[in-house]
Amino acid sequence: MIRTFSRSLILAPLLALLACSQDHGPASDSVAAAPDDQIDLIVMGDHVVTMNDAATVHTGAAVAIDDGVIVAIGPAAEINAQYSARETLDGKNRVVLPGLVNGHSHAAMTLLRGVADDLALMEWLNDYMFPAEVQFVDAEFVRIGTELACWEMIRGGTTTFVDMYYYPDTIAQVVDSCGMRALISATVIDQRSPDAESAVDSLQKGSEYIERWTGKNSRITPIFGPHANYTLNAEQLRATREAAMKFGVPISIHLSESPYEVQYSKDTYGMTSIELFESIGFFEGPTIAAHVVWPTEAEIPILAERKVGVIHNPTSNMKIASGIAPIADMLAAGVRIGIGTDGAASNNDLDLWEEMRLAAFLQKVEQMNPEVLSAETVLRMATSGGATAIGLGDTIGSLEVGKRADLIQVAFDDVHHVPTYDVVSHLVYVNDEQDVASTIVDGKVLMREGEILTIDTDRVAAEAKALAARIQSALQERNQQ
Ligand SMILES: [Zn+2]
Repeated sequence: MIRTFSRSLILAPLLALLACSQDHGPASDSVAAAPDDQIDLIVMGDHVVTMNDAATVHTGAAVAIDDGVIVAIGPAAEINAQYSARETLDGKNRVVLPGLVNGHSHAAMTLLRGVADDLALMEWLNDYMFPAEVQFVDAEFVRIGTELACWEMIRGGTTTFVDMYYYPDTIAQVVDSCGMRALISATVIDQRSPDAESAVDSLQKGSEYIERWTGKNSRITPIFGPHANYTLNAEQLRATREAAMKFGVPISIHLSESPYEVQYSKDTYGMTSIELFESIGFFEGPTIAAHVVWPTEAEIPILAERKVGVIHNPTSNMKIASGIAPIADMLAAGVRIGIGTDGAASNNDLDLWEEMRLAAFLQKVEQMNPEVLSAETVLRMATSGGATAIGLGDTIGSLEVGKRADLIQVAFDDVHHVPTYDVVSHLVYVNDEQDVASTIVDGKVLMREGEILTIDTDRVAAEAKALAARIQSALQERNQQ
């Protein structure tokens, strides 16, 4: 069950008192025993939005971090008295919350941002994206594009993402060096792609990649990414699930994204996409399903029962006109829901604050009901709910003692945050990625007060511009033929 924050101004002071009283609860609940030595980091904030089950918001609080783990959360004065830290991030005009979870992306497509806009999904894929990828995408493209994406995501407060693209070893190397957390799919697709020739070839290469990266870096989970049920047949989908079961890894896939896909499935198999997946045992292992715009009433309980993590991509679904996913209905049925940006070629940015806002607005206008999908509900989709949807709910997604220290500080200095009555309302309905001040993953500061510390941004910008110039001239040449 999801507890909601009150939107009422009258209740706000009462809530603040409740939050304060929670701060002064039994010390054993929120503050671990004092260690002898210095800890790594203290992150302070005027408010600490924990996104725990009780939706606790602490005021004038701090998060103590050591060895990548949250060791205490409590009133700033108590934390500072109890711990000495090697680094402290000041909390004046700062709101602390869990890092955002981007449940579906194609990171390197930042390099194809704006190449082809205003097209329907199948035309966009078959006439533009797939040919452009075969022509231009190699390991170097993926390295530069992924670095660009990680820069943008760290800048905007995203700490974890689920990626599906080509050359997964290269993606993993970038994630390793920039300090983010990611589930990185080896794409399986039955056509010539940038890194494979067929379904069999991509599954084989993907298996080798998974063997190379399993257990190598605690921030990186190698997974399989079968593209969709119209780019792989039922036998190939089943084989991919078998391989995932063999390695004990999850799968990320596009599911029930467009009316085309649903119709294709009915024409080919005599059943809808989700019925097909259920019939071949595809949901028997952990599944992260992107989009899920067209589930029928009968299919939604299957998604809940199979614990499928549904990733809502409102911008991409709107831009490609795929439709409006029944998020409120799926939430009510107990489906695990996260939120994602999709690739930058169909969004066209990686801003989860915008996704949250659009997710809320889209459901409200579709149902003509302003009460559906509250600010707290969508913030949960981008944090603890998203973490659960991708299988990391026990590790990240909320600020709780014992969880990995993935968190952000948002600056509430800008004019659009003056005044602030309700912090959660501002995070969802006001905040922009430019307001994020600091980003921390696994206890390591990746961005401090707007300065990216783990990526050479000047180099990446120069490389991206040089590569884009080559793509631009090749596209002009092709268009003149
Ligand atoms: Zn996608």
